[in-house]
Amino acid sequence: MRKFGIPAAALAAALAVLAAAGPAQNSFKLGVVNLKTCFEKDKYERIKDVDADLQRMADDYAKRLKEIEKKMLELRDQIEALPRESGLRAQKLLDLRRLETDLKFEKEYGRAKYLDYYSDRKMEIYNDIRRVISMIGQEQKFDLILRVEQPLLEEQDPETVSQRINNRVVLFHHDSVDITPQVLKRLNEEWAKQKAAHPVPPGGEWECKFCGQKNRGETCTKTLGCKGTRPK
Ligand SMILES: [Zn+2]
Repeated sequence: MRKFGIPAAALAAALAVLAAAGPAQNSFKLGVVNLKTCFEKDKYERIKDVDADLQRMADDYAKRLKEIEKKMLELRDQIEALPRESGLRAQKLLDLRRLETDLKFEKEYGRAKYLDYYSDRKMEIYNDIRRVISMIGQEQKFDLILRVEQPLLEEQDPETVSQRINNRVVLFHHDSVDITPQVLKRLNEEWAKQKAAHPVPPGGEWECKFCGQKNRGETCTKTLGCKGTRPK
């Protein structure tokens, strides 16, 4: 009598179940996404909107610098025309110093603001891309989704080339595992919805409640040192 043995029929049945489940368990679902493509403005509408925002910020910045420089030039002319002992001359010299400080501030602050805006948006977009990839991954039961690069190296300088070689994870993939188009489709759908839902769409124009100026970026850039931010 077999005390601990498994009846042969039961064992055969169990093996049959395992055999049937086997191939399914072993099939590993892999996907790849080209992140660089996700950041292209002709592929993802949001990138185009952010680009336009950045361009406006850069234009505003250049305009403000030009305005201050123009005022400084005018003041210098006026100062030169005034007699040395004139009280007005002293006043205008003081104004000129103030403008010099404004210019210096504007140069540093404007640039920092631009770079902050740029990296904030890039981070937001990257996080959204990852979120969408995770969603697709769970919905379609992927086991692993990897980042891929363009098939060819584009950059020419040696440092970038070695960096890109080192960063490359996937050396070959079949086109069928590339889910970049799906990711982009979802991202664009979400962005269109988000733009439609907001009275002031991200990237759209809003009026600063402090200085009343129209802005496009996340914070007011129209008045020096203004604390205005995009209404939520
Ligand atoms: Zn303002």
